[in-house]
Amino acid sequence: MYQNPAGGRSLTLPSESKDQPKSGRKIYNIAEPILGELEMSYVIDAMRSGWISSLGPYIGRFEDDFAASCQCKHGAATSNGTAALHLALVALGIGPGDEVIIPSLTFVATANAVIYTGATPVFVDSLPSTWCMDPAAIERAISPRTRGIIAVHLYGHPCEMDAVTKIASTRGIAVIEDAAQAHGAQYGNRRVGSLGDVGIFSFYGSKIITTGEGGMLVSNNPKLIERARFLRDHAMSADRPYWHPEVGYNYRMTNIQAAIGLAQIERIEEFLSRKRKLLNSYRQLLSGIDGLEFNPDVLPSRSSLWLVCILLPPGVPVADIAARLKEDGVDTRPFFHPMHELPPFKQFRAVHAEGDGCPVAERLARTGMVLPSSLNFIDEDIEFITSRFTHAFKAVKDSLCYSSA
Ligand SMILES: *Cc1c(COP(=O)(O)O)cnc(C)c1O
Repeated sequence: MYQNPAGGRSLTLPSESKDQPKSGRKIYNIAEPILGELEMSYVIDAMRSGWISSLGPYIGRFEDDFAASCQCKHGAATSNGTAALHLALVALGIGPGDEVIIPSLTFVATANAVIYTGATPVFVDSLPSTWCMDPAAIERAISPRTRGIIAVHLYGHPCEMDAVTKIASTRGIAVIEDAAQAHGAQYGNRRVGSLGDVGIFSFYGSKIITTGEGGMLVSNNPKLIERARFLRDHAMSADRPYWHPEVGYNYRMTNIQAAIGLAQIERIEEFLSRKRKLLNSYRQLLSGIDGLEFNPDVLPSRSSLWLVCILLPPGVPVADIAARLKEDGVDTRPFFHPMHELPPFKQFRAVHAEGDGCPVAERLARTGMVLPSSLNFIDEDIEFITSRFTHAFKAVKDSLCYSSA
């Protein structure tokens, strides 16, 4: 079913595979990009042109093509996804004294970007159906100081965007989509990134489209993108060199990164269909295990299925299964810790639809496990991983039975 990807290259991400196996054994990584001849030819072209810094034709081409792939008119490429998120908030005028509502269950960058602006994050609980923020909890989290909502499409599944934008628009609150994990995902027949005031993406090595490091803001609002471009380049005046009317940032992307990105975006449909095949194979080969829940895939949305995720039955320790799999070279991850449990964010409000705290986010975080989801996997890889998983699951369950007997 799987073909060997172009070039047959398997590039491991150093940060994703620090613990090497005992003896030249294969490591099954959480994520690996596919980089082939197209990426290489664009990179070589960028090198030959001499434009290796943040000027050069690939940046504009990548911005245009990527924005178009999100059904947006404009894009502004950045040095990484966190920088894009920070710029989006600053460009919307969010700063000290403001509150920004975000899901508690997300990658830490979402919360950090709010802190960078001087605004206060307010955490909301997740929905069990999509693992994304619960609109009823957003309603409860709103205060007179609320200026923004960051809708995170967790593990690639779109948020309830109709409900989110409805809540926001009646109160003049901005909606930022954090689509860092959701390249190519659809909400109905609309692409994520185009559903709020501004969308942001990450092109880190583990994401669906990569430029090594990189990010992008997309929007149909030309003023907002123009402001992001100004701020990312030290806030330098367009018509007066070295005149900086305010404090800006260096959040630029290089032409070489954009060359990689341009090649990657041409192949996004291939990557998305590989991710879907991965999930289907896992589902099928693990169907013998009772009580496993896989990634949400709630119609009419189409998840990007960034990583294959499972929820283990309650009481089965994720860490024990992960430790056994690691011995077989199978790398897994727990889910993110809910933000309201992390030391820098404990002081902020966390709410669910009926009260304080985020019980759904906590349950998902405790029972969730991310399985290896490399774009390079072939059928035999998934067969190996699922057979080791089945073995580890049985062994851990048996040990639980003995210890409780
Ligand atoms: C990866 C990610 C980011 C940040 O992207 P970087 O490119 O690593 O800075 C932001 N939000 C979410 C949800 C992410 O997964």
